[in-house]
Amino acid sequence: MNDFSYVQAASTKDAARLRKDTPTAAYIAGGTTLLDLMKAHLQEHPQLIDINRLPFKGIEQTKDGLRIGALETMSDVGEHPLVVQQFPAVSQSLLLAASPQLRNMASIGGNILQRTRCGYFRDPAFPCNKRIPGSGCPALDGDNHNLAILGVSDSCIANSYPGDFSVALAAFDAVLTLENQKGRQRRVPLTDFYRLPGNTPHLETILEPGELIVAVTLPPAAHAQRSTYLKVRERSSYAYALASAAVGLDVQGGTIRTARVALGGVGAQPWRSREAERALVGQPATEATFRAAAATALQGAQPREHNRYKVELAQNTLVRALQQMTSS
Ligand code: SF4
Repeated sequence: MNDFSYVQAASTKDAARLRKDTPTAAYIAGGTTLLDLMKAHLQEHPQLIDINRLPFKGIEQTKDGLRIGALETMSDVGEHPLVVQQFPAVSQSLLLAASPQLRNMASIGGNILQRTRCGYFRDPAFPCNKRIPGSGCPALDGDNHNLAILGVSDSCIANSYPGDFSVALAAFDAVLTLENQKGRQRRVPLTDFYRLPGNTPHLETILEPGELIVAVTLPPAAHAQRSTYLKVRERSSYAYALASAAVGLDVQGGTIRTARVALGGVGAQPWRSREAERALVGQPATEATFRAAAATALQGAQPREHNRYKVELAQNTLVRALQQMTSS
């Protein structure tokens, strides 16, 4: 890790001023993602600006939905009664991630900004288009067993966001509030926040330099109250998803009225499947319907040699999650 100075920002204005003085400085909250990246020399910053004193806390009901401050921890959000009652899938996505120690430290803003676990990206001995644009992608014909099959390109097949929380946010139409260095705020749907790799995989989000995530807002919906997050991983104690599904269903009289579907572990970004949702709505809540929707969700998959298994795994994960929603 490079040497760096550390400073606490007293206010949002102060944070913006500090960042303006040192444009290559980084904001730090829980530090569980950033310090990992710095230790691996994947990011180097001469200064870290601690933003924990900024007023980005609180979980409250607003006219737009449930508003969650970006500095709330994964544990506090996952266990909050309003989140558990109104968005069970969001709560589960947080509590199934990482370890209790990490969940107690990590902010949800930092969680949203996690970076890929692609082994070639994490090892500076290898070329990597995401780390050094134009250097190549050894994962295309190398070890790609845990990489993406949807939304990928010839430049990069990584799951840019490897976590769980943003998958649930994508399913339930979450909106991010961002604030730039001039204090101007804008609201961006989570599904528009991440960029697909195309031929610029080093550009991962639409966040501008110095811009901060202030809050996440989840609009209320019947399908969100009846929702679940199912995660399949190599070991149940602590691992990223090989495949996961965030689903919400509103079923009346045996017919699906509204549905939300997002997949994790298989997309270059948290993968909202509006195709699968269309295949579910208006249909009877049966296994045949779920299987048809799962096949639709994976229709555009572009698997490579070692991640071919993910097509069937993701389909089965989605079907099981939908069955869980209708079995009780
Ligand atoms: Fe880098 Fe993406 Fe290729 Fe991994 S898949 S080596 S992150 S370019």
